[in-house]
Amino acid sequence: MTDCIFCRIVAGEIPSRRVFEDADAIAFLDIAPYKPGHTLVVSKRHVPEALADAGALASLAPAITTVGRLLTERLDADGMNVLTNVGEVAGQSVFHLHVHLIPRFEGKAGIRAMLDKDHDIDLDAIQARLLGA
Ligand code: 5GP
Ligand code: ZN
Repeated sequence: MTDCIFCRIVAGEIPSRRVFEDADAIAFLDIAPYKPGHTLVVSKRHVPEALADAGALASLAPAITTVGRLLTERLDADGMNVLTNVGEVAGQSVFHLHVHLIPRFEGKAGIRAMLDKDHDIDLDAIQARLLGA
């Protein structure tokens, strides 16, 4: 058994609030969101980070686009931060390739305000909005 937490989530050994899946990626809600709808697009294959492998980041592009549009439409987002951290010094804490999609809403603008966490985010309600018909 692997000790990589995202490999275990991909395998279904650890629960997550999934919102999308394709051949190369799964997307699930971040357990400690900065903003409502903060989602991780995660490689199904274990790759430590975005620069470790020439094709890995590109393989996530279709899922990033689909999930980014889904978040925008279902949550009425006004913008989005799309980012991936490479290395501990850059803030990476899980060493399995993932891209953060962080919806942004008017009123609190700019990259610094992204880090100012919103509180009392109801993850189940957000998942329902994203999966709802
Ligand atoms: P990083 O710091 O590596 O860029 O991002 C890792 C992200 O994974 C963090 O935002 C953290 O909240 C999230 N995370 C860590 N463990 C889990 C987990 O078990 N489930 C979910 N859904 N997210 C997790
Ligand atoms: Zn892994």
